[in-house]
Amino acid sequence: MPFTFHMFAKSYLLLTLGTAAGLALTGCASSTPAATATSTTPATATASATTETAAKGPVLPGVGLDLSARDMSVSPCEDFFQYASGTWVKNTPIPAAESSWGSWNTLIDQNNAVLRQILESSAANKSAAKGSNAQKVGDFYASAMDTVAIEKAGLKYLQPELARINGVKDLKGLQTQLVRQQMLQTRSVFGLGVRQDSKKSTEYAVYMGQGGLTLPDRDYYLKDDARSKTIRTAYTTYLTNMFKMLGDNEATASKNAATVLRLETRLAKASKDRVALRDRYANYNKMTVAEANAQFPNIGLTAMLPQVGLGSVKEVIVGQPEFMKEASAALKQEPIGDWKTYMRFHLVNSVASALPKAYVDESFRFNQVMSGAKQQQPRWKRMLRSTDATLGEAFGQIYVEKAFTPETKKKALEMVANIKEAMGEHIQALEWMSPATKQEAMKKLNGFTVKIGYPDKWKDYSALTISRESYLKNVLAAREWEFKDNVSKFGKPIDRTEWGMTPPTVNAYYNSTMNEIVFPAGIMQPPFFDPKADDAVNYGGMGAVIGHEITHGFDDQGRQSDAEGNLRDWWTKEDAAEFSKRTDLVGKQYSAFSPLDSVYVNGKLTMGENLADFGGTALAYSALQKQLQKQYGSSPRPQYDGLTPEQRFFLAWAQVWRTSMRPEALRQQVLTDPHSPAQYRTNGPLMNMPEFYEAFGCKEDAKMVRAQNVRARVW
Ligand SMILES: [Zn+2]
Repeated sequence: MPFTFHMFAKSYLLLTLGTAAGLALTGCASSTPAATATSTTPATATASATTETAAKGPVLPGVGLDLSARDMSVSPCEDFFQYASGTWVKNTPIPAAESSWGSWNTLIDQNNAVLRQILESSAANKSAAKGSNAQKVGDFYASAMDTVAIEKAGLKYLQPELARINGVKDLKGLQTQLVRQQMLQTRSVFGLGVRQDSKKSTEYAVYMGQGGLTLPDRDYYLKDDARSKTIRTAYTTYLTNMFKMLGDNEATASKNAATVLRLETRLAKASKDRVALRDRYANYNKMTVAEANAQFPNIGLTAMLPQVGLGSVKEVIVGQPEFMKEASAALKQEPIGDWKTYMRFHLVNSVASALPKAYVDESFRFNQVMSGAKQQQPRWKRMLRSTDATLGEAFGQIYVEKAFTPETKKKALEMVANIKEAMGEHIQALEWMSPATKQEAMKKLNGFTVKIGYPDKWKDYSALTISRESYLKNVLAAREWEFKDNVSKFGKPIDRTEWGMTPPTVNAYYNSTMNEIVFPAGIMQPPFFDPKADDAVNYGGMGAVIGHEITHGFDDQGRQSDAEGNLRDWWTKEDAAEFSKRTDLVGKQYSAFSPLDSVYVNGKLTMGENLADFGGTALAYSALQKQLQKQYGSSPRPQYDGLTPEQRFFLAWAQVWRTSMRPEALRQQVLTDPHSPAQYRTNGPLMNMPEFYEAFGCKEDAKMVRAQNVRARVW
């Protein structure tokens, strides 16, 4: 990931990929059942019994739903998540190496089996042409799995970098080293990278912004609740142990740990919180290089830009000027020796997974405090993820041959077309929006680019050298290559073929500056999409995912960009006010959800994702109705498994989100992730949908039914 600092561009379907601490929020669970309020009133009503369908079609065996997952003692109208997945949650322990477990983990596991085979045969092949993708993938994975060589090398391949840091004598030297740390992506002090200018999407721009923290959020440094204190204590232990392993004695190690914590706390205080980072205008501050240099003189910007091949840059977009001012002041005020200590840790921490076992274990012990995982993932799984993150488009080609068919692509394109059409109809039908704003909205919708499966043009890795000599050496080379590859875009035409996810990724995204929706091959498999299942199941799964990404173009952040991907206000004042009135209601609903004692969902942080879930389910439902109408007209529709298509649609949605999470990971998700916990992703939108009430025959006073005056609907 070239950008280690905050910039709004992409909205993902699933959990944010990785966090500041490098903790992938993918696993977690414990004996604690999913943090769902257990329904206390077992309703005798079952799905099929509660529904009154006028004309019932033939009952046929169905495909695609795991009906044994249901908890039939809970009424779908009381807690749909529990009803749809309760038995599964009860009977499915979270694997020890995970912090959460759900449907998409199962899919990731299946993908991993395919990927592992590709990697192992690549690693076994020692005769691939030098410089070819096959050679790079094989050698990278082989070096990653060669723990004997890794133990033997110790810190050997890190020494040149450690020596560079050690050689810093003054502020100028420190600035030069910070550039080096940018290249190696060690998350030191601030972030720097090139991407589309969000107000001028036809050009690339240089962005700078806040960064430099190790813990996943500024709050962990600043809050005094028990949980934050526990994490800080664990972090201090981790810091101390890492310094000891680097050769410091006990006293020095503990002093150095305090130094890193102190510098990071200073940066944390100057950092914006996650809600403030969602304000797209406030986080866009274009200025000339001279101006930036005057405001943040100790960053050394004018020397830095030519050093990274950006000498021709005249303007930079600064995300958080206040942060940059404070960072600049701190670089001068804090002792050089302290910054060297800080960089030494950031470097080692960022490559801990490529170092001998003692470092890996220490890093895991610390991350465990936040994830709750009981064990480390097996090495092959961690190294598979690393290979995917580093060379994903090199072996993604082989993956798609095995796991993706033209038929799937055709079906996906058809679903996208239907759901886009539904969005168009929803826009036209909005009572609260003026024709002028509708016209702009339609222009934006019609301007969407759709990417499915894998890139038309594969990434070129020819400038990257990979060998079997050392995994750490490969990791450092890949990071430097990625940084250079990123900055080399400056001044060139926008590359619209680029993908922000690798083909096997089980996720999807909307990119506002490209105005595009992207669905990697990895997600187009069960439970999201099953070619053998009926439309109701596929629309409740993949269809709602497509609707989710489309709606991101029109959520509270996405709606601020136009059809060309430019940040520009195309709304009338009245329409914007009507929009906010509706989204405020959504925010209030989510802020009242509490997955753990005294832990509340942040309705402001999760706004965009919640709106996308609202839109996703509503659009997919409409598209399914049209599909059913096309297929069956007014004749009775078949009842697969004895369920109506509408019931199957909502069950598929719930099945996609069935998840158990360890409380540690859940706390972190609520604090740092823009996605709401799975049970609210399941229930939140449905509680506002009359279509849902009708499908399950829910009465007005049922928990899943919002009263009319607080019911929300945006798109
Ligand atoms: Zn999303």
